[in-house]
Amino acid sequence: MQKILNCIGGEMKAPVSGDYFETVDPSTGKAYALVPDSDERDLELAVKAAQAALPLWKKLDRAAALHRLADLMEERRADFARAECIDNGRPLAACDSINVMRGIANLRFFAGLALETEKFGNSGLESYTLHQPIGIAGVISPWNLPLLLFTWKFAPALAAGNCVIAKPSEITPMTAFMLSELVNEAGFPAGAFSVLHGKGAKIGAALVAHPDVPVLSFTGGTATGIGLYTAAAQRLKKVSLELGGKNPTIVFDDAKGAVQGALAAAFSNQGQICLCGSRLLVQQGIYESFKKEFVAAAEAIKIGDPLLPETQHGATVSKEHMEKVLGYIDLARKEGGRVLTGGGRVTVEGRCKEGYFIAPTVIEGLSAACRTNQEEIFGPVVTLMPFKDEDEAIALANGTQYGLAASVWTEDRARADRMAARLESGIVWLNCWNMRDLATPFGGVKQSGVGREGGRRALEFFTEEKTVTRVA
Ligand code: NAD
Repeated sequence: MQKILNCIGGEMKAPVSGDYFETVDPSTGKAYALVPDSDERDLELAVKAAQAALPLWKKLDRAAALHRLADLMEERRADFARAECIDNGRPLAACDSINVMRGIANLRFFAGLALETEKFGNSGLESYTLHQPIGIAGVISPWNLPLLLFTWKFAPALAAGNCVIAKPSEITPMTAFMLSELVNEAGFPAGAFSVLHGKGAKIGAALVAHPDVPVLSFTGGTATGIGLYTAAAQRLKKVSLELGGKNPTIVFDDAKGAVQGALAAAFSNQGQICLCGSRLLVQQGIYESFKKEFVAAAEAIKIGDPLLPETQHGATVSKEHMEKVLGYIDLARKEGGRVLTGGGRVTVEGRCKEGYFIAPTVIEGLSAACRTNQEEIFGPVVTLMPFKDEDEAIALANGTQYGLAASVWTEDRARADRMAARLESGIVWLNCWNMRDLATPFGGVKQSGVGREGGRRALEFFTEEKTVTRVA
């Protein structure tokens, strides 16, 4: 079976312990690669290598190195897409056009971004600020969009002049491994960028606790984020947290194109995107007709082998995750929900017979306060709820502990803007969903996160500002 290796100090290395665990292709249920079970000893090697690389990396043309890495990824685009598909279960075409191409775009975008020195002059003083790298940045990423989120986190840290130690999800390590094999060829100095594989509670926690890693960027679940924030506080580390969501899609009775929009929001990547619209709020006048169309559209989604071009809906990422999502569907039934379509595991004949497939599931009849409507399920499950007017839509939309994203569908621009101002979320889409300009801030409020990433904010996060003043 293929062995994944760590990338430390410019070399591909086995874990010091020699221990590995299996990673599974979720579309077949079969183990297909071995992942290093890294520990503190591997981390220590990566920290030493990063400390040695830091002076050189700060001076180098980092944009050129990131562009070269992007070029090398582009040359192997098809390999990356296939590996991501097998590791994650997302259909191949989406792995290629979204996960891989956005990964490449992330590298190029942050390569092109530089923070300028700001100048101030008043009270007879001449002041300017320098944006300087912090040192060694720890980045920890999840499994749901492996390459996209991995690149989104490490690229700004490197562009800002930090060395990076990255820990990708142990559930989807393959494309981070493939990318780490390219960093020498791209011209990164040994140690500027290390990748350590392994379990969150072991190598992830060690990275969070390490005294020489002063800045941490984390994307993952809210409970993990709270634990990480607490641990990082012991050393007053700078932390960015991009966490879970329970996002509303709000459809007013004058909306156009909302069925397909809400469908994409609910079921893209098998509902495993933090931004997915898992609560569908529909104005009461169109509720019944919208429901009929939406359910029919959900039933038309083609479930199948993620490697086949016609497949629109692949596997959920792991057996454990599939069972968690199925558990929530059972809970919804116990809470009084009516399953309008889906509601269970699906068998895909042939190669994928043992795969972890769940049908797109639509549920109605639940109270806003029930667990199904309050907790992040992170699977292909959406609940439908009617609302009367703007006030009720806002009360329902804002009525969870989360505040990541929302989408509003209406032809009334003034109403859309009123809704945007009142929604408690870091991101609002008007008549669209998950459209991203890489220069815009990204992040959540309430239990969905702390801080903003994206564009300048990501670079600012990975730098310290130093104010220099002289008497003019
Ligand atoms: P997770 O929290 O289980 O794991 C995320 C990462 O943290 C993994 O690499 C894991 O190994 C690591 N980790 C786990 N325990 C750790 C510990 N004690 N110390 C340090 N690291 C640790 O999340 P997941 O299941 O991989 O991802 C799904 C979650 O991520 C969902 O809640 C989803 O909403 C969220 N997410 C948020 C965003 C966003 O931008 N807000 C984007 C994608 C996913």
